[in-house]
Amino acid sequence: MPQPNIRRRAQPATDAGQAPLSLHACAVTGDAADPLLSRVYPAPSRPSRTSFQRDRERVVQSRAFRRLAGKTQVFTSRASDHFRSRLTHTIEVVQIARAVASTLGLNEDLAEVLALVHDIGHPPFGHAGERALDECLKRHGLRFDHNIHALRIVEHFEQRYAAHRGLNLTLGVREGIVKHSRDYTLKTHPELKAYFLNQRPPLEAQIIDLADEIAYLTADLDDGVESGLLEIDHICDNIDVVARCYRQVRKLHPGVEQKFLFHEALQLMQNVLTDDLIATTRSNTLAIGATSLADIRRHPQRLAVFSPEIESDRMQEKRYLYDTLYTCRELEIEHDKAEEVVTALFNHWVQSPDELPESYHEEVQTEGLARTVADYIAGMTDSFILLQYAGVKRTLRR
Ligand code: MG
Repeated sequence: MPQPNIRRRAQPATDAGQAPLSLHACAVTGDAADPLLSRVYPAPSRPSRTSFQRDRERVVQSRAFRRLAGKTQVFTSRASDHFRSRLTHTIEVVQIARAVASTLGLNEDLAEVLALVHDIGHPPFGHAGERALDECLKRHGLRFDHNIHALRIVEHFEQRYAAHRGLNLTLGVREGIVKHSRDYTLKTHPELKAYFLNQRPPLEAQIIDLADEIAYLTADLDDGVESGLLEIDHICDNIDVVARCYRQVRKLHPGVEQKFLFHEALQLMQNVLTDDLIATTRSNTLAIGATSLADIRRHPQRLAVFSPEIESDRMQEKRYLYDTLYTCRELEIEHDKAEEVVTALFNHWVQSPDELPESYHEEVQTEGLARTVADYIAGMTDSFILLQYAGVKRTLRR
């Protein structure tokens, strides 16, 4: 029985009497015949869940997803129970992605599973860990790319099913994993040829990268203030969009303590960015006269973007976060430590491959030693890699 795989949305209302609200016609339908629902291994349909809802379950039940709880978002060792981990960051991205998809009339189930899976390819210690792993691999003529690593996780490394390796996700979700944040070319990545590299991804995938940005641009200011590394006055003096939101909420809540106003301002900023993404994506899509997913795919540029004004706000805030938080002395000490741990363990296992867990020995034959060691390290949580590092250091001292 083909499954009724779509939640049909109300047909386009009008936006202030002008543009249609819904881009439903350009969404991934989720119809049983849609090739984006195809899987590498046959899977009987389930009457209670759509294909993308089943993918959501497979992702949520995966080991890689659970490990997000133990991976750094920005702060590794500074003491607070309140900082985001990759898991709580992921949940924030899901909320934003679902809101955008729902308002635009896109396929919410697809947007949700793409948001849930978007960070599972990240190694421990955030971007510092990723940079260190990439540097290690460069010395062997290879690179580390978290999107491609995420694809390898869902296709190969998750081994929980009787009939196949991997999670056997739909083509639509695998394409979104590869292409949500960047486009690849066939010339540089021939192994990705199944993923329509000469076409743009569906809007459900395009919105994920910006939902991710909205989530961390908001959260990193919040966690930055919590950490004591950022000050509210300094943020308002240097980031226009925060200053505008702060003034607005101060007018609404005169006399209220600064920390509450700042939190309100961040919530408002998140709404401003989200609303802008929705409005700009909608107007871009209508402007090219798109009436189908094929129109979205063949357009040379991504249509899910911010307006020029908000894009300039976004760039200003990113520069501020980079200069003031990500590269501040306190975090650089954490980054140096992360680099030391990742590099030392990588070198150790490359020199002593017999000490890799037995389950990785077979992969060395097919993928080569350097890639296998990187795969092992990339899967670790922050606490697990520190345990490994302590163990290796003890062994070497003997
Ligand atoms: Mg992310």
